[in-house]
Amino acid sequence: MVDSPPNPAEAGTAQARHDVVIVGGGLAGGLIALALHRHAPACRFLLIEAGRTLGAHHRWSWFETDIPERERGLMAGFALSGWEEGYDITFPRLGRTLPTAYRSLASAEFHRALMAELPAERVMLAARAQALDAGGVTLGDGRRLAARCVLDCRPFQPSKALAGGWQVFLGQHIRCNTPHGLTRPVIMDASVAQLAPHGNGEAYRFVYVLPLSATEVFVEDTYYADQPRMDAGVLKGRIAAYARSNGWEGEVIDEEAGILPVISGGDFAAALAEVTIPGVALAGARGGFSHPLTSYTLPFAVSNALAIARLIAARPGLTGSELAAFCLARARRHWRAMAYYRMLSRMLFEAAEPGKRVVVFEHFYALRGALVERFYAGRSTWADRLRILTGKPPVAISRAIGALFSSGRPLETRLQTLETPA
Ligand SMILES: Cc1cc2nc3c(=O)[nH]c(=O)nc-3n(C[C@H](O)[C@H](O)[C@H](O)COP(=O)(O)OP(=O)(O)OC[C@H]3O[C@@H](n4cnc5c(N)ncnc54)[C@H](O)[C@@H]3O)c2cc1C
Repeated sequence: MVDSPPNPAEAGTAQARHDVVIVGGGLAGGLIALALHRHAPACRFLLIEAGRTLGAHHRWSWFETDIPERERGLMAGFALSGWEEGYDITFPRLGRTLPTAYRSLASAEFHRALMAELPAERVMLAARAQALDAGGVTLGDGRRLAARCVLDCRPFQPSKALAGGWQVFLGQHIRCNTPHGLTRPVIMDASVAQLAPHGNGEAYRFVYVLPLSATEVFVEDTYYADQPRMDAGVLKGRIAAYARSNGWEGEVIDEEAGILPVISGGDFAAALAEVTIPGVALAGARGGFSHPLTSYTLPFAVSNALAIARLIAARPGLTGSELAAFCLARARRHWRAMAYYRMLSRMLFEAAEPGKRVVVFEHFYALRGALVERFYAGRSTWADRLRILTGKPPVAISRAIGALFSSGRPLETRLQTLETPA
């Protein structure tokens, strides 16, 4: 790990020039570094992260089928939690076990595994980039890192050019005094009370549960809302009540919280223009690589990391502008491929009355398991798309048509800052 200033005589000179500097050691930046290390071994890259660890403080979860089989190897070195026997969903009028295997990765393990596999000189922690440009990165302390390619993997920046709402959640890792008895994750328990008196446009609430071991359980309270606001105390109270109602007494040993965008439309080019630096490539959530409805990025981060590594291995002299153009083309393709899910987000936020949003999900989860798998992976077929929209409509037709042709509500950009546990 590089964590002390490099030789100042080298900084900014030809010898110190990196092939690629990746700014931001979150999921996207960390996976790009890993893919470069494994698949483009000649590439002299440097991953810089403002925090003391890679991946911040949370866990990422995904369905096994979200990542195409040929790309799963990138996640193979991480110690993952996994459930082979599928998952449960519970709604007021529907309870079901779906067969898809599920995976989860804690950020502490992401950090541990990357630090173990990446050469020490390729990672710089506690290094905040002050300015990025086509020729390199200037750190907060004035150090200059010259680079042929710069990849910006800093966090997502909300934009008024986008439309949509928010997914707000808080999760607690509980060590129970006695075995909790769960064997499968509960991806959505929407049998819980739906409306809360917050005036936050809060609606569609569910609880998400991961049995991490026989006595440890991760319980997350989630809701979709018009505003990016959270009252952490309220969510903690709900988790405590949920745990009590299941007989899970014990101690909270970890906690995470998030407010993630649910994108329902907007002008992608204008939103990207707000974060684009000429000659600098954009990746991760900041570059638009997320699922509009679930806000998940993991499958796209894996795919991008491998594509970038393949490109750099094949064209070692690639310029920063060429890498930026490559990422931009992928981002545009991704935006176009996600159009259907943005339309569903509009259905959720505009066609469904807040108290009825639960019915939209209940209708969806009654459909075939393979269709649900493709939906989460962002790979729905045309037949799937038709099937999701047919049958007894869970929303009023007139409102559905309105939502179909609406351009969505501008995204609220004043995001509440959440406390991150150390
Ligand atoms: C609590 C929580 C749970 C989530 N669960 C899931 C999940 O289960 N599955 C899923 O797919 N997604 C999940 N997400 C969504 C998640 O945001 C993305 O999947 C993913 O973490 C985005 O990765 P990223 O690398 O694009 O951005 P980030 O994870 O935001 O990483 C950006 C990194 O850049 C660093 N940084 C910022 N500024 C600078 C700077 N100036 N210089 C250097 N470094 C800088 C930050 O410290 C950070 O580490 C979750 C999010 C949260 C908050």
